[in-house]
Amino acid sequence: MRIGVCPGSFDPVTNGHIDIFERASKLVDKLIVVILENPNKKYLFTLDERAELIRQSVSHIPNVEVDFGAGLLNDYVKSRDSHIIIRGLRALSDFEYEFQRALFSKYLDDEIETVFIMTNNKYAFVSSTGIRELAKFGGKLEGLVPDVVKQALEDKFNTVQEK
Ligand code: ADP
Repeated sequence: MRIGVCPGSFDPVTNGHIDIFERASKLVDKLIVVILENPNKKYLFTLDERAELIRQSVSHIPNVEVDFGAGLLNDYVKSRDSHIIIRGLRALSDFEYEFQRALFSKYLDDEIETVFIMTNNKYAFVSSTGIRELAKFGGKLEGLVPDVVKQALEDKFNTVQEK
């Protein structure tokens, strides 16, 4: 069985991510979307909230599993009997970071391949950071994130404002 791993922080998941999951899921028998915590980062949504939002947004893709990961990505990938890391690629600005990450991964384990899927033109400008900002200032989220994410963002920022 060919298993692919799609890692990220997904804070929150966007339609850009979902598009990558849909396309990646056709290249493998099973796609594992793994949420990784970077201890140096502050997140808007908790791990559980992020996982739940992804789960609700991928219910139309039959071979996707959502999981949590800690430590080195390569170790996680091997622990799941996979050797394929799938990442989405947007602008040139993503390239440098992704290039370095992929080379690091290869240096640590030559068996693991990182595969890139080019962003869908429609979502080339969509990032979780941009979405959080847009939501904070009450911008239009329609079409950029799944409906459940739109709702969760509206709830999050309304709650924050009421305090
Ligand atoms: P990280 O915190 O590791 O950068 P993200 O959650 O921001 O993780 O993104 C996970 C993956 O999805 C990355 O490979 C990123 O490049 C990709 N990605 C994010 N937004 C888009 C988009 N709009 N189109 C295609 N790929 C995207």
